[in-house]
Amino acid sequence: MYDCEICGKKTESLYVIDVEGAQLAVCARCSSGKNVIDKITEEGVPVKHKVAAVKEDAQEVLVEGYGAKIRKAREVMGIPIKVLGEMINEKRSTLLRVEEEKMQPNMVLAAKLEKALGIKLSEKESEEKGSAPKADAPITLEDAAMKKKK
Ligand SMILES: [Zn+2]
Repeated sequence: MYDCEICGKKTESLYVIDVEGAQLAVCARCSSGKNVIDKITEEGVPVKHKVAAVKEDAQEVLVEGYGAKIRKAREVMGIPIKVLGEMINEKRSTLLRVEEEKMQPNMVLAAKLEKALGIKLSEKESEEKGSAPKADAPITLEDAAMKKKK
């Protein structure tokens, strides 16, 4: 596990983002909407060259309050966390940490939870939303000034 340099949360994969010329290794949530320049997985394999491909698929990001959402859906279904664990073949302790948002589920686990509970835990970071398209890295005057110095 890695520590996010912004929020300090433990994360399985780090995203290297560019913040006004400084590089920060952060969790998926903190990388949201930022200029991601690299990704480091638990295996420590940088997947720099895959970034372009990932972007085409639109990056999946966890929704806000995913833990509460899981817990609520589970309570609506009236199943204890242990049973949910059995349903999707995950440890109770893992699910508990996810519900408490001490741990972010990876996309595989998120998909299993979505299926079991009939909820949506991830959203696509893409232009599909109809909001103003995100520029990869809006160039500010500061950026421009920094680039000149180099
Ligand atoms: Zn973070």
